[in-house]
Amino acid sequence: MDFDALFTTQLDALKAEGNYRYFAELERKCGKFPKAANHGEDGVRDVTVWCSNDYLGMGQHPKVIAAMTEAVQRCGTGAGGTRNISGTNHDHLLLEAELADLHGKEAALLFTSGYVSNWAALSTLGSRLPDCVILSDAGNHASMIEGIRHSRAQKVIWKHNDVADLEAKLAALPANAPKIVAFESVYSMDGDVAPIREIVEVAERYGAMTYLDEVHAVGLYGPRGGGISEREGIADRITLIEGTLGKAFGVVGGYITGSAALCDFIRSFASGFIFTTALPPAVAAAARASIRHLKESGDERRRHQAQVARLRAELDRAGIPHMRNESHIVPVMIKDPVKTRMLADYLMEEWGIYVQPINYPTVPKGTERLRFTPSPLHTDAEIDRLVVALSHLWKQCALAHAVA
Ligand SMILES: *Cc1c(COP(=O)(O)O)cnc(C)c1O
Repeated sequence: MDFDALFTTQLDALKAEGNYRYFAELERKCGKFPKAANHGEDGVRDVTVWCSNDYLGMGQHPKVIAAMTEAVQRCGTGAGGTRNISGTNHDHLLLEAELADLHGKEAALLFTSGYVSNWAALSTLGSRLPDCVILSDAGNHASMIEGIRHSRAQKVIWKHNDVADLEAKLAALPANAPKIVAFESVYSMDGDVAPIREIVEVAERYGAMTYLDEVHAVGLYGPRGGGISEREGIADRITLIEGTLGKAFGVVGGYITGSAALCDFIRSFASGFIFTTALPPAVAAAARASIRHLKESGDERRRHQAQVARLRAELDRAGIPHMRNESHIVPVMIKDPVKTRMLADYLMEEWGIYVQPINYPTVPKGTERLRFTPSPLHTDAEIDRLVVALSHLWKQCALAHAVA
């Protein structure tokens, strides 16, 4: 059997659709955020990264680097095993206490990534709670969808951010079945924010537990970086808050927080927690330093919001249409995979501006876009230069301008 021919046929189809994924080979430069070296076909050169999920540049913060370096010197590189078999390090427990405190919960549990935390927690809850029904927002991340699928629990999809639809679907279910309402706070592609309070109130009325993914909000919102649920003062009413250490906290890893019984339950039954080597202690130490810094300092958050507002204002001035939302994510809709790729290539080649085209299956077909994530470290000059570059492109490619 010619397996490579089978692979190539499908890859060719992907290329014909414009949905084949090309990765930019970058070398991040510590202390130069958002600059990175791009290793391209014609050599190496500096580019400005405009699509990083290291939203605040914390991956290069001196305190975070110092914490990681210190822990490597103290503990070495790896954790040495799964959490069960010699892998539970002191730094993991310190980090879990920090995370429980961040969200005002009794306990927290670490995973190797945010993806794994969603997958493991939802699949364990859905499969272990008898007759469980999971009500999942239609816009949920792949990691939640896969976790729910793997649980084999009954799944009900409610319309994105639509509380009335959620309520109708809750009302139609048997009163005594355990129910989980799973949703996100900031949706990463449209940058829209869930009506958390309304969702929690409806869930409470029907005795459902709430499962909230705050991956794109932790570190960024709330007085201590506890996310939208902290900002809205509703974290204490959410059963489980999930987050990542890999985005605004600038390191890697994922976690859940909730009651001591809930975390112990996932710890004890989740295959994706039990059977994998724990995060390196140095990663845990670095993440803890990042979280501690952002609990105390609001400077990064304020400057972040200021630069986001600046980019939006400059785009408006140039008549470049972008999606309105109340978050830090600035999507510029192109609505065609081939054009989106072309624009991104041009920005990279002509301007040294790196933004990854976002295409299917990350977003639905026909909603392809460039997704910009300004950071506190993008200067005013870099923002202006991006908008000048986009304006050139808009003229050259006869793309539609926003109607003023
Ligand atoms: C990125 C992402 C995750 C996964 O987090 P990682 O730490 O990157 O694995 C989970 N949920 C959402 C909404 C995400 O965008």
